[in-house]
Amino acid sequence: MDNQKFHYKVKCYNCKREFNGYEGSLKYNQYKQNRYGVFCCEDCGHRIRMEAIKNFFRKIINKKSLPQKMKGVVQ
Ligand SMILES: [Zn+2]
Repeated sequence: MDNQKFHYKVKCYNCKREFNGYEGSLKYNQYKQNRYGVFCCEDCGHRIRMEAIKNFFRKIINKKSLPQKMKGVVQ
């Protein structure tokens, strides 16, 4: 069982939930190196990644957004 594994209780900075950083995992290593670092749980990590990707694409789209003269023609 995974529950038997040694783990740290890590608090997610985003949703403030505690989650387990199991030995050998990335979170565990990060926590070990810096207990005062900023950590987030899987759910939030996933959501943040998705937001970052969305923002990234939004930026690209904005940058490529139509030249001034075409504004008003296409929204
Ligand atoms: Zn979280």
